[in-house]
Amino acid sequence: MFETDAADVAQRSSTGSLPPAPRVDELVAAAHARYAPLDEGDVADYIPELAEADPAWFGLALVGVDGRAHTAGDADVAFSIQSISKAFVFALVCDELGHELVHERVGVNNTGLPFNSVIALELNDGSPMNSMVNAGAIATTALVPAADAEDRWRRIRDGLSRFAGRPLDLDDVVHRSESLTNHRNRALARLLQSYGRLDVDPDETVDVYTRQCSLSVTAVDLAIMGATLADGGVNPVTGERVVSAEACRDTLALLASCGLYERSGEWLFEIGMPAKSGVAGGLVAVAPGKGAIGTFSPRLDPAGNSVRGQRACAHLSRSLGLNLFASDPAGPAPAGAAGPIGGTTR
Ligand code: GLU
Repeated sequence: MFETDAADVAQRSSTGSLPPAPRVDELVAAAHARYAPLDEGDVADYIPELAEADPAWFGLALVGVDGRAHTAGDADVAFSIQSISKAFVFALVCDELGHELVHERVGVNNTGLPFNSVIALELNDGSPMNSMVNAGAIATTALVPAADAEDRWRRIRDGLSRFAGRPLDLDDVVHRSESLTNHRNRALARLLQSYGRLDVDPDETVDVYTRQCSLSVTAVDLAIMGATLADGGVNPVTGERVVSAEACRDTLALLASCGLYERSGEWLFEIGMPAKSGVAGGLVAVAPGKGAIGTFSPRLDPAGNSVRGQRACAHLSRSLGLNLFASDPAGPAPAGAAGPIGGTTR
């Protein structure tokens, strides 16, 4: 079972807006203080460079659709975005190519299997199922309209930088480290090609995908990127429109069902926010119309999700009223309003 231990935190409903800024600061600081001592989970080591992370790092940031940032701990420590890039590349592709095409070419259903599963592809006749698992993410990267691989990389880096509101740099060390060990992703790309699901060169596409995963971000960057999805595609810090409101809606729907891999259902049940995690320890969780949380802590659960990040999001989802499914009764209908069919009013 997914562990949150936030049951003692009062659940606010998701109606309305964020509480006043000093209260948000207080709750972000409280969530950070509560989970900083937690030392469950392990740092990822299947990409050798990631094993160098300090397990004690813990950054927390919340950015509202008013552009205001609330931070605690190591919110400015840089790390590689990894799988969280998948969410934003998906948004760019939705924006350029539209709802129908991504639905048809990649899919929007959960595989129920680990992020790098080969069996998932085989079981589904070569359909990658969704853009949040590695096979689907590689297929989605290949869909970014571009003249060649270099152009595709440039467009992805520019797009993700516009989400963050600053130019994002490639972490060369992480890129090199993953490039030497990403045999499984190369195999997935070849398999996609064998099923006629990849129209461009598989090795070049995996390299662009590996570069997008190696972009260097902070918890604050993630919160701004998420807040852009929460703000109908306009970056609330720079004021720039990055993608359409429809692309945000589609991305958030996919994150709700597939963002936390095979634990997505449990995550939604406990926390109720569209979210995406990455193996370097980043996590972004979005409250549409309100803002987003970005967290960084490299200790991961067995599915590859940051342990402290999940706990802090559970805490803030309850205390700030970010769970999409939490509502309060609207109260008695005003006098004179039409009652329900049958004539009675509540
Ligand atoms: N670059 C990583 C990979 O392809 C991303 C995985 C993740 O963050 O879940 O394995």
